[in-house]
Amino acid sequence: MKHAEVKFDTACIHAGQAPDKLFGGVSVPIYQSSTFAFEDADQGAARFSGKDDGYKYTRIGNPTNAALERCVAELEGGKFGLATATGMSAISTVFMTFLGAGKHVVSTGSVYGPTRTILEKELTRFGVESTFVDSSDANNVKNAIKKNTVMVYVETPANPTLSITDIAACAKIAHDAGAILVVDNTFCSPMLQKPLQLGADIVLHSMTKFLNGHSDVVAGMLVTNSQDLMKNMHRVICQMGGTIDPHQAWLVLRGVKTLALRVKVAQENAMKLAEELEKHPKIEWVKYPGLRSHPQYELAKKQMSGPGAMISFEVKGGVKAGKTVMDSVGLSTLAVSLGGIESLIQHPASMTHASMGPAARTEAGITDGLVRFSVGCEDYEDIKKDLWQALDKI
Ligand SMILES: *Cc1c(COP(=O)(O)O)cnc(C)c1O
Repeated sequence: MKHAEVKFDTACIHAGQAPDKLFGGVSVPIYQSSTFAFEDADQGAARFSGKDDGYKYTRIGNPTNAALERCVAELEGGKFGLATATGMSAISTVFMTFLGAGKHVVSTGSVYGPTRTILEKELTRFGVESTFVDSSDANNVKNAIKKNTVMVYVETPANPTLSITDIAACAKIAHDAGAILVVDNTFCSPMLQKPLQLGADIVLHSMTKFLNGHSDVVAGMLVTNSQDLMKNMHRVICQMGGTIDPHQAWLVLRGVKTLALRVKVAQENAMKLAEELEKHPKIEWVKYPGLRSHPQYELAKKQMSGPGAMISFEVKGGVKAGKTVMDSVGLSTLAVSLGGIESLIQHPASMTHASMGPAARTEAGITDGLVRFSVGCEDYEDIKKDLWQALDKI
């Protein structure tokens, strides 16, 4: 059964998974094995030469990992998936595969903190150049393209500013320059946005977030429609070693089954919360793609099938007032990460985006008072009551 033939909610439960051939197990077995026996020396040789596509060693491939790769690739409307140990492992695999000395990347400025840090502080050691722009205006991406640009890297909605980038426009800009477009789709999950259909060459995820959805696993995924791009990424990950563990892959497969259910509830909660927060007297501003006040509201409506479950806001009184709110919530947990079934609240300037430094934060629009709220699936009234009592403490 292909995703094209069934609805998304159905695909979340079934994509890439058939009952186990050996005993009929309905849940995909966990192949907790580092290595796979060959029937004879010739078969071993054939597997290593690629003539036989059977398994040989888990860093190179594993049946449980493969089920997850088929599943998420199908949800993204892509042909090939590659599961990775973490989201950062997916991102570093993309960078290590396609970048090199003298090559240039144009990236969204307000990306996940460590993504920017890798480009700015680690890959510069190997001669990679990068330019960070406010990609919510595609002209900024176009103007940053150089002769040696090989990749446009976009995160939309961006973390934590929630500004939106036009994926189709960036795909055209990248392709006109002979570069590839890579999109971090973590904030939306394939439920709300399908970058490959908008022209992206590679879509990636921190599956730690919405795809797994239970704040109990770290994992990542790369999806593409190009056999050539996948072959190269697979070659690099096999050597660099960022492969996922099969037990972890199985946990994510289990999490993905409820993706549609979770995102629906969390998104409904987020929409109501954003609307009510915007009217709250102690709130300076709220940024949420479902609000008309969002600068790219129309683009969000066109490009995403829903506004998602992430809200950014600033309370009046800046950092100090923001800290009071974070220290006073009881139901929502003060923790980084997002996309879990539980509501999480955090302060990017001192936590997830601290490593970027103040200059890069200012440039990326991450103010010191910005609070990021990952809305969970608890009852709406409980989430609201908890946040409102925290706001009352200011
Ligand atoms: C969390 C996150 C990452 C990194 O993923 P890990 O699983 O923590 O390595 C990358 N991009 C975005 C948008 C994220 O939220």
